[in-house]
Amino acid sequence: LTERFSKSLSKLRGVRKLTEKQVNDILRDIRMALLEADVDYDVVKSFLKKVRDRAINEDIKNKLSPADSVVLTVYEELTSILGGEKADLKRGVVIFVGLQGTGKTTTIGKLANFLKNQSFKVAVSSTDVRRPAAMLQLQRLAEKVGVPYYSFDEASPVEIATKALERAKKEGVDYLLIDTAGRLHIDEELMEELKRIKEAVKPSEVIYVADAMQGQEALRALKAFHESITLTGVILTKMDGDARGGVALSVKEAIGVPIKFVGVGEKLEDIEIFYPDRIAQRILGLGDLQSLIEKAQQIIPEDEAQVLATRIMMGEFDLEDMLKQIRFIKSMGPLEKILGMIPGVSAELKNLKIDEKKFKKTEAIILSMTKEERRNPKIINMSRKVRIAKGSGTSVGDVNKVLKEYEEMKKMIKRLKGMQGIPKLPRFPF
Ligand code: GDP
Ligand code: MG
Repeated sequence: LTERFSKSLSKLRGVRKLTEKQVNDILRDIRMALLEADVDYDVVKSFLKKVRDRAINEDIKNKLSPADSVVLTVYEELTSILGGEKADLKRGVVIFVGLQGTGKTTTIGKLANFLKNQSFKVAVSSTDVRRPAAMLQLQRLAEKVGVPYYSFDEASPVEIATKALERAKKEGVDYLLIDTAGRLHIDEELMEELKRIKEAVKPSEVIYVADAMQGQEALRALKAFHESITLTGVILTKMDGDARGGVALSVKEAIGVPIKFVGVGEKLEDIEIFYPDRIAQRILGLGDLQSLIEKAQQIIPEDEAQVLATRIMMGEFDLEDMLKQIRFIKSMGPLEKILGMIPGVSAELKNLKIDEKKFKKTEAIILSMTKEERRNPKIINMSRKVRIAKGSGTSVGDVNKVLKEYEEMKKMIKRLKGMQGIPKLPRFPF
């Protein structure tokens, strides 16, 4: 966060209850932080209203200091606005649009690589006929990735797209990624061309590629594109730079289209699935501050670990968290390590061991629960258990075991929270 913000928060340490003025002061600082992160003004306004309503009404999470509560509320609200949809691409024709230089061609190369690595059959084609160099760029990328590049001499953009689709169908391609011409500014001619391409190939996705460094300008162009050709997703490039990513929030608030991926460099591998919590932390400037988590970065994916550790510290461990935890234990490291980041705790945890073979079953069981059940396991009665067992291909006994395991974890976490010293440590890391 901005220095100003951390200062106003530190003044609140130890304060029991927030006055209206204190809330206002914090919100003012958050507003500045968001504007500095390039979030659209109207978006900031409506966002802060939501936070304010929550902050005042809830008399937030009484265990926390008011300062932490406000930050947590802001963070949760940001994450929930940014979140929601899964970062998948519908199979079929995917058209990439956007201004020139935002990273369309590069992104197509990255996604071709990403999809190919998931064993999809991918082909690419370019309709950027006015810039032969741009077409060559895609051809080279395709060669590097090892996917076919469809080219058709002397053809117009619409013809290329149409022919590419025919060929993709013939060859049984899962994803045909189509590059389009960009412009430095939005112009009618380009929009008409894109409309006709869209008409001709009936794409499953129209992805807008936005340069995170462009801030507000990116948002204006985005709106214009969405109005004329209706986007289905956004990819935010150049997030490896120092852009805060405020445009991500604007994307969701302004046009309600999901962000699917983020570009984090110029190389083929430099693409990541979009994680709302990671961007939320970045927008708030929390990302670099959490020394607690830094240690664990080599072990577990940082975003998940951060969120989970924070939630554990807040005592909000639910079945969703357990699911997340199971998932990254599978690839990375166990809960001991996360809790181990909280000083004085790790020794307590020696007897918490999770059997790797049970993961699959446990995961299936939790996945068969509704969101509500995961958040509030208390509501899982007998008939729900039967349904969950059926859905996961297990037995009610298995479901009971998972619930019991969860209760044990939760109890342990509670006990840890009660230990002396712990409450002082975690908080938000300012
Ligand atoms: P297009 O005109 O939209 O097709 O843009 P290009 O794909 O040609 O990319 C323009 C420039 O941005 C190139 O120099 C790319 O290497 C660079 N670029 C694209 N994506 C990223 C990214 O995620 N991070 C960084 N640092 N550079 C990127
Ligand atoms: Mg290009």
